[in-house]
Amino acid sequence: MADAVLVQPDTSFIKDVMASGGGDLKKCFQCGTCTAVCALAADDQTFPRRQMIAAQWGQKDRLMGDPAIWLCHDCGDCTAQCPRGARPSDVCGAIRRAAIKHFAFPAALGSLVANPKALVLLFVLPALIFLAIAFWAPRGAATPEAEFANVFPIPVLEALFFAVSGFVLLAFAVGMARFAKALRAGGGGGLVAAALVAAVVEIATHRRFAQCGAQRQRRLGHLLTLYGFLGLAFMGTAVGMGTMLGVMRTPLALTNPLKLFANACAAVILAGVLLLLAERLMDPAKRAAGTYFDWFFLVVLAAVVATGIGSELLRLAQAAVVMYVVYFIHLVLIFALFLYAPYSKFAHLAYRTVAMAITHSTFRSPGPTSPVVTNAEC
Ligand code: SF4
Ligand code: SF4
Repeated sequence: MADAVLVQPDTSFIKDVMASGGGDLKKCFQCGTCTAVCALAADDQTFPRRQMIAAQWGQKDRLMGDPAIWLCHDCGDCTAQCPRGARPSDVCGAIRRAAIKHFAFPAALGSLVANPKALVLLFVLPALIFLAIAFWAPRGAATPEAEFANVFPIPVLEALFFAVSGFVLLAFAVGMARFAKALRAGGGGGLVAAALVAAVVEIATHRRFAQCGAQRQRRLGHLLTLYGFLGLAFMGTAVGMGTMLGVMRTPLALTNPLKLFANACAAVILAGVLLLLAERLMDPAKRAAGTYFDWFFLVVLAAVVATGIGSELLRLAQAAVVMYVVYFIHLVLIFALFLYAPYSKFAHLAYRTVAMAITHSTFRSPGPTSPVVTNAEC
């Protein structure tokens, strides 16, 4: 007779998963329909059925080191076919959110960002920093024309964002090291360079999204957001370096190629975020399942782009007071987006890349489009 295994459920983990989007977890009765439709599942990887029961039993440690949770691209096919309405794709999303909080460094900041009640506090901190800069930072003589640098001196902003970049890189590095350790404890292999390249290609093309049945249209919104974001990040770094080295002076002329490129990226990212927001708002099930975590990232990103465009237009119109106020809001939002990146939905990018790179040899790559299984076949 097989030895009995005593399962010690982590009840706070179960509550956490249910409170952050996996509220229908307990409806699962282990029929296996979700595994039949999921392109990631294999004979020895009964995904996501196995993860559903692990979550019901509160097996937090096992799920924190489970790569499949990160290979899931939230296509929603399993949820569309689940006969019990247990919404396995949402449960996977809730487990990912729990993992981001679990591996966060420093843990207190991870918990703060995950807590909707702390939302105001998250913006009060950067608001105070930028108010202090506006009123007390040293600056040169003001230009006759209204310029952002008259109120927010560029060297001070550069020093601040340089320091925040260092902190964000450290937070990501520690979080990823903790995650990699958990993956290896869960049976994952070592980091494989070829797998890392494959993971980057996979993310750059969103190839798996094309295999989705229920939510295929999300691919375009994701790609536009990703490339618009990367373009703006490149542009911000290039201009920051250029001004620091004294080879560039801001504001750039509207006809400057970098400026044209930045404006094009802003339009691309705005289109992507609006598509993703529209997709969530127009789908009643998705709207109901949407979490604070999802909305926080999308709304802040949309607001960053909108206030960026608004600041630029107001500067061109020389609407002095309003332009400083909108630029102040823009800076607060960028700071929040940046500082909280290791604990927000943005962190998915890093976790997913590491999971794909480390587990290349131990987890099946996706096959062709999932077969459609009706509820009656369950
Ligand atoms: S299809 Fe639904 S009920 Fe069946 S195993 Fe998956 S989550 Fe559970
Ligand atoms: S959402 Fe898609 S990838 Fe994720 S478990 Fe369900 S079917 Fe699989």
